[in-house]
Amino acid sequence: MSLPQPVTRRDTVLDPWIDTYAERTHGLTVSAVRALFSVANRPEVVSLAGGMPNIADLPREAIGEAIAALIRDRGAQAMQYGSGQGEPFMREHITEVMAEEAIAAHPDDVVVSCGSQQALDLVTRTFCDPGDVILAEAPSYVGALGTFRAYQVQIVQVAMDERGIVPQALREAVAACRAVGKRVKFLYTIPNFQNPTGVTQSLERRRELIAVAHELDLLIVEDNPYGLLTIEGEPLPALRSMDDERVIYLGSFSKTFAPGFRVGWALAPHAVREKLTLAQESATLAPPVFSQFAISTYLHQFDWRAQIVAYRDMYRGRRDAMLRGLTENMPPGCTWTHPTGGFFVWLTMPEGLDSQSMLPRAVSARVAYVPGTAFYADGLGSRNMRLSFCFPSEERIVEGTRRLGEVIHDELDM
Ligand code: PMP
Repeated sequence: MSLPQPVTRRDTVLDPWIDTYAERTHGLTVSAVRALFSVANRPEVVSLAGGMPNIADLPREAIGEAIAALIRDRGAQAMQYGSGQGEPFMREHITEVMAEEAIAAHPDDVVVSCGSQQALDLVTRTFCDPGDVILAEAPSYVGALGTFRAYQVQIVQVAMDERGIVPQALREAVAACRAVGKRVKFLYTIPNFQNPTGVTQSLERRRELIAVAHELDLLIVEDNPYGLLTIEGEPLPALRSMDDERVIYLGSFSKTFAPGFRVGWALAPHAVREKLTLAQESATLAPPVFSQFAISTYLHQFDWRAQIVAYRDMYRGRRDAMLRGLTENMPPGCTWTHPTGGFFVWLTMPEGLDSQSMLPRAVSARVAYVPGTAFYADGLGSRNMRLSFCFPSEERIVEGTRRLGEVIHDELDM
């Protein structure tokens, strides 16, 4: 018998299945962030585009040894199928992590997911039919918008300011949707160090938001992957800690440990978590069992709280470098946010400039960012861009802002 020959990749020009795909795929486009990956990752380009956490300083050798011992001693369990809701020990650990943010929760109400991204998917598939409305901040996390679109949901974005989503705008948006018979399924919000703006909801806003949710009978999905990464001031209470019946809370180990394990979770009111578990079972049978064992090993054997403090110190240095670089290099008329944690700064350029059409010139000048339009469902954001300070070194961040400043200067002179 002859062996099969290596296959060369064929790029089909015409897709023969074009009429066969489900309607829900029609709204899906390559995310602006993914489209940028290949250019932004060239070594000569300072990428202020991606949101990759910097995990270079994790004690990889010691983690490797602990994971080798895990496979040797408990591999038969760790490499086996597991529970659709997530392993009980993992759910227990997750409640300990959430306790750091003063969230009191029972492990029974936690559903483990493949990153918080999959928790978003499970929540959307559980609540939304095509045409339903999800409310989100304007702008909002591009990955969430993509998930919502995949379920043919109508995304209605609500104005935010430097203290978070504006309660009156929220009331008006809900009223407008309901007036035309639309079913508003939930408000999706990122209260801490929002992606993409870096804005944190003030305490007063959080209280108002919970009050509005009661007033309007609204469910809130609180996405909080950056919550433990406060780099300035005191952390504010999670919405879930203010209301345990109206809030589905999403968390993740991606930013406090490492994203490659793909472990996140949803904490949901009891009845909802039953549905989420069914959704998880139909999607994956069970979230990655090996990753749950690995993360549990890490949490047991390493000082994960000290690691979070180290992450905060590192990101504070990078945030400061970015703010310094922007102050030194941005032309008059540019403004930007001052994040107190997380990974992102949101830059607004003077009227008339367009971050999307400027991007090729920025990449030629060896700096990359994500154009603001990626974070809106309706094409707004052309004067904006998201700049992330998580991955490049402090020196590279400052150099990136210098290059960006020159590009914007040239743009203004054109
Ligand atoms: N939500 C937000 C706001 C994010 O920024 C991200 C990651 N960029 C996610 C969810 C998904 O993270 P993960 O799936 O790694 O937990």
